[in-house]
Parts: sequence; structure tokens; C-alpha cells
Amino acid sequence: MTKSLTRTHDPAARSFVESAGRPGGDFPIQNLPFGVFARRGRNEAERIGVAIGDQIVDLNRAAGQGLLAALEPEIQSALAARTLNPLLSMGRPAGRLVRERLFDLLCEDGPSRGQVVDCLVPMETAELMLPAVIGDYSDFYASIHHATNVGSMFRPENPLLPNYKYVPIGYHGRSSSIVVSGAPVKRPMGQIKGDQTTAPVFGPSRSLDYECEIGALISGGNPRGTEIPIGEAEQHIFGLSLLNDWSARDIQAWEYQPLGPFLAKNFATTVSPWVITMDALAPFRVPAYDRPADDPDPLPYLFSEADRRSGGVGITVEVYLRTSRMRADGIAATRLSQASFATMYWTLAQLVTHHASNGCNLRPGDLIGSGTISGPAKDNRGCLLELTWRGNEPLTLPTGEVRRFLLDGDEVSIRGYCEREGAVRIGFGECRGVIETA
Ligand code: MN
Repeated sequence: MTKSLTRTHDPAARSFVESAGRPGGDFPIQNLPFGVFARRGRNEAERIGVAIGDQIVDLNRAAGQGLLAALEPEIQSALAARTLNPLLSMGRPAGRLVRERLFDLLCEDGPSRGQVVDCLVPMETAELMLPAVIGDYSDFYASIHHATNVGSMFRPENPLLPNYKYVPIGYHGRSSSIVVSGAPVKRPMGQIKGDQTTAPVFGPSRSLDYECEIGALISGGNPRGTEIPIGEAEQHIFGLSLLNDWSARDIQAWEYQPLGPFLAKNFATTVSPWVITMDALAPFRVPAYDRPADDPDPLPYLFSEADRRSGGVGITVEVYLRTSRMRADGIAATRLSQASFATMYWTLAQLVTHHASNGCNLRPGDLIGSGTISGPAKDNRGCLLELTWRGNEPLTLPTGEVRRFLLDGDEVSIRGYCEREGAVRIGFGECRGVIETA
């Protein structure tokens, strides 16, 4: 595991950008996540940037200054694009070279400091965009705690279906409605059928929920008809973001049989704007889920010793809720849950390998959702369906307000970070959305 660590992970490294050294910050020099932004009110084309402290390095400008001239021309032209897709199509090594170059430029004793300062844009003046044109989006169900909780609400006698421990369960989502953090989310309309009636009505969802997830952005990809062996799967993941798979539980309950989620989930999916590279996450790798002895082994195509040893990622995810009344009264968002991505039953590599195992081609810019991240404890539950047990155990907020599901004006914010002794903490930023009236 340690062999993948380079100078870019050195906990002693510091940037001359002062805010990058602030304890508890998300974007120290060891992180360097990629995103796409434009300065507000400038009418300028969007460009690729890398976050450092409370600043963004404008890579377009950096290239113009000749600061990236050490990189091969193909990488330089990929960095001049308006999305990460050209860089994603070059595979992970290209991203790693950019990361290493930026690390050197941003180090406190780095060369060309004056020119680098000239490329910094304060994050608060920037509008952050979706980092890539997302071609296809698939969402999994990789938390056994989530699957068991949801299963026991609907099938108390038989919570986990017999396929769960063999097949990484997933469905094809929709990319057209993926939005970046901050975009409002309109309450969906749909067919809803009450327990006591036989016919549904069409109206606004009354069981609107969030799902706290991690999203993996695909780089490289595979030609149709070929597979991605598990040993190569992580080479096809550029990096990770936070993801909120907004879900209308009442629409879902009526429509999901027999083909799975459809309109209950495809009205909006929010992602955080910064892509935390797999290289930045190297110090935080952990073993895959420790399957109890009586669980089946993964089928051979889903197993590698390296993946078992370090296929997990130690990301802590937290969900915060702030109602419109809390905002009006100046009350801080309240934390609803905290969970660890390390508790997922399936690793990211297993999800990627399984997805391509039938010859399905993944393409650079595709997005793969992990599924709701829930852990074993009650405050590890990553959606309201679980937290309120289908609305039967409502939450009471600091204002005295009560929630079973989301009401209009509610703001849901997901945060994520990695911490480990001997490494500098890195964070994911924020994945936020406010519910608007239907
Ligand atoms: Mn989901």
C-alpha cells in the first residue's frame, strides 16, 4: 500500500498558499482535486481548475504562462478544454503527471511562485460547474447495512435477497439530470398510491428523500465486448466526488416492480464539484469489507488479493439538514448521520469490473454511484427512509420542527473527508441542494 505513496503525499509538505495549511481544511497541497469553473460576472469560458486552500489554480492561465510546459503537448491541450473529458480519456497516468507538476508549483519553495500566484482565483468568486460531460450514470447498492435496513422494512422475514452477496446490485440512472452542488431541486410529481387505495393519484411526492453516496468518475474505459479485469479496475477510476441520489420514496414504492427505479430517482442527482483523485486517496486505502466466514467468497472475476487487502477507501461521510426556518433563525445545519465508506460490502473495483463483465463499455466521463452509504449503527444511516424507518420514527430538529421526509425549503448538505494518523486530512468539499416547491 505504501509503495503507491509519493512526494505528493508527504505530510510535511506545505504550500505557499496560506489557506491550504489551515487545520481541518478540505484542500491542502496533498489533495489537489480537479474541477471546472468560471469567474462570476466575467462572461468567460469555463476552464479546468485545481483547488488549493480557498483558491483555484486556473490551469488554462497556467498553461498560457508556460507553467505546464514540462507536460507533454497532448496533456497540455487536454487541460485547455472546458471539461475534464479529454484528460479523462487519457487515463489515470496523465492526471497523475498534472498532479505532480502542480504539487511542485504550489510547494512553499516551488519555482515560479509569482507566476503561479497570478493564476490563483479565489474560490468564492468562482462558479463551479459539473467537472465532466457525464455520458452514462449507473448507481449501485453496495452497502449491506443499507440493503438490510431497506429490506427489513419491506420484507422483515427475509431482508437480504439471495443474490446480494454474489451480485453487486445496480441500475442504470440518467445523466441528463445530474447537477452540481448548489443547484435547486424541484420536488417531483408522480404517481402515488396510498396503502388504503387501489388506484394511484398524480401529485407532488410526499416522501422526498436524499441518499448519501460516493460517485466515481471513469477514466480510460473499455471497448465494447471487452472486460475490465479486477486487477485493472482502479486504473479506470479518475477520482471520487460526493453524490446525492435524491429519491421519491412514494413514487418508488409504486413503480419499482418489476424493473426497478425509474422516475423516483431520475429527476435530479447532485454531485460535488471537486473530483478527489485516486492518487490523493492513496494514503487512506483500507481493506475491503471483512466478509464473515459463512458469507460466500466473491466469484473469481470479482476477487483479487490486492483488492481484498486495500480495495476500500476510508472516507467519512456526513449529512446535514437545514430547514428554511433554521436559516431564517440563524441556526446552524444539524448533522443527521455520519458513516464510513470503508463499511461498503463491494469495493469500487468490484463495481467497475462487474459493470463491464458482460462486455458493457464504460467511457471516460461515465459516473458510477456507490449506493447509499449506511453503517451498522442508527446514526450511520445515509437516508431518511432508514433514519425515520419509513416515517415511523420522525426526527425532531433543534427548532422543534419534525421531519419524516424532506419538506420544501430544506437544504441537504453532504460532506466527506479522510483522516488518518501520519497523513494530512483531505476533504471533498460540499454536495448541497435545496428543495423547491413542486
Ligand atoms: Mn442510490
